[in-house]
Amino acid sequence: MLNLKRPDAANGANGEPLPRKGVQWLRSPGFNKGTAFTEAEREALGLRGLLPPRVLTIEEQARRVMINFHNKPNDLERYIQMISLQGRNERLFYRVVMDNLEELMPIIYTPTVGRACQEYAQIFRQSRGFFISSDDRGRVARILKNWPPRDIKVIVVTDGERILGLGDLGACGMGIPVGKLSLYTACGGIHPEQCLPVMIDAGTENEGLLADPLYIGLRQRRLRGEAYDALVEEFMGAVEKLFPGALVQFEDFGNQNAFRLLERYRDRACAFNDDIQGTGAVALAGVLSALRASGGKLREQRFLFLGAGEAGMGTADNIVACLVAEGLSESEARRHCWFMDSKGLIVRGRDHVLGHKIRYGHDGPGCSDLLAAVNALKPTALIGVSGQSKAFTRAVVTAMAALNERPIIFALSNPTSKAECTAEEAYTWTAGRAIFASGSPFAPVKMGDRTLTPGQGNNAYIFPGVGLGVVSTGARRVTDAMFIRAARTLAELVNDNERAEGRIYPSLKRIQEVSHSIAVAVAEEAYSANLASVARPADLPAFIRSQMFKPEYPQYPARRPRPKKPAEFSI
Ligand code: NAD
Repeated sequence: MLNLKRPDAANGANGEPLPRKGVQWLRSPGFNKGTAFTEAEREALGLRGLLPPRVLTIEEQARRVMINFHNKPNDLERYIQMISLQGRNERLFYRVVMDNLEELMPIIYTPTVGRACQEYAQIFRQSRGFFISSDDRGRVARILKNWPPRDIKVIVVTDGERILGLGDLGACGMGIPVGKLSLYTACGGIHPEQCLPVMIDAGTENEGLLADPLYIGLRQRRLRGEAYDALVEEFMGAVEKLFPGALVQFEDFGNQNAFRLLERYRDRACAFNDDIQGTGAVALAGVLSALRASGGKLREQRFLFLGAGEAGMGTADNIVACLVAEGLSESEARRHCWFMDSKGLIVRGRDHVLGHKIRYGHDGPGCSDLLAAVNALKPTALIGVSGQSKAFTRAVVTAMAALNERPIIFALSNPTSKAECTAEEAYTWTAGRAIFASGSPFAPVKMGDRTLTPGQGNNAYIFPGVGLGVVSTGARRVTDAMFIRAARTLAELVNDNERAEGRIYPSLKRIQEVSHSIAVAVAEEAYSANLASVARPADLPAFIRSQMFKPEYPQYPARRPRPKKPAEFSI
């Protein structure tokens, strides 16, 4: 049975010992309130003189943060400001993020987090998250005990090999698990103390980093083969011993490892891969929502994917699962999805078609360029997951518009610089008829007297809600069925006002409500598949809501409490 006690109480109820000396309260981001410590707290906790006399409210503190934020010269500086705040005062950080999510998500996540990872070695100030290197083989469980004794429920782990569409950034990829877990809290209400970002530094093939004297990771080439697998296995074993039942999200692994690791662990641990399953769900939701707008049916669609990696395969697999649920056979369903990779259209018998792609190799023409493939296959939807900026040229988009009244055009590659086309290009080249979504955000586009709001197929619509549903029910596994339910729920949540603005995803302003609804759907799936380890509560939605973190300051005890003995791990 999972321990579901809430860590909101001011007494370190999640296992973290309370700070002892006055100054330690200010240096503990989970406890710090800064200038918001009350008179009584300042007296009791030994803070007099360590803070300026005036007591501020969290609203006043948040206002000051946003004034400073707007005064910063660029987004990277804004990222540094926010990550520094997170390292000083977590509750204030989440208060600011949750109140300004639309403005801040592109800073703490894509696209700015991509730039931050590229510059990580230079902007590095304070360590966040947990680093395991290939030098730690044989002692991973022991060193993982160095993490403060907390009741960890969600872990996001990467090895930095495929960061967004930016390639191998080695240990500098730590920005991604840190950012994703911030979204687990801000969007899905998972308590920050229950989150653990992990970087498995298995080396890098990035020549620039290997030569950079400031690089923060191991300056050696990537570990491969059995040695690499043994390191990941040791990590997964250590997680099971120290944080049993914790949800593990694999993130931004290179695709030769991503598919293998998912297959190895999905039935052995509470684990999933967000680039495959999370993207698959958010893209499926976008498709279902686009079809509501166009009036089309899923079985009438033909999808052409540019890019046959994790994101593309995850999306196609979900589309196939929905078509099978509608009564098609699996092979009929697969024929609705076609793929192009760097070597051209994937057709049966073509050279260089590896493992996961073979399933989508159909009989068809050999095409090496996208325009020829569009003209030959006549797709209704074009999905860009190739990391190739500008690959959807004017000729390609115009051809889609000639073939379809409402062409579905998703340019999902991240960050913004890698998008296959911009929102403005998609709308302009189709005279406003395209149903468009991207991976990184684009501003609304004015077309005459209409304003078209592009969809952002942001995985943050899915994984925080899935995580909340899994954690709240103590689900033992994360299944494809959970992601499909999450996608259907997300598509249904787009309201009439949002549809009128041309949106295919709900406004990010409603993300906590969206995540809650997804969590309820995922929890229902966990109960019906007999995967839950928490007894079903009488009122499931209310129970899940009660689990969600609120960015408020607790009142600390008027007397300084006796320090609690830290919780012990047994391994
Ligand atoms: P991946 O490395 O697994 O796959 C990339 C694929 O693109 C490979 O099949 C590769 O062969 C193909 N490719 C490379 N060059 C090509 C070219 N010139 N023409 C055609 N295909 C080419 O990566 P992934 O995880 O699938 O991610 C791909 C992109 O999708 C990234 O930019 C990532 O940021 C983005 N992504 C977006 C979302 C989202 O919008 N929610 C989620 C996940 C990934």
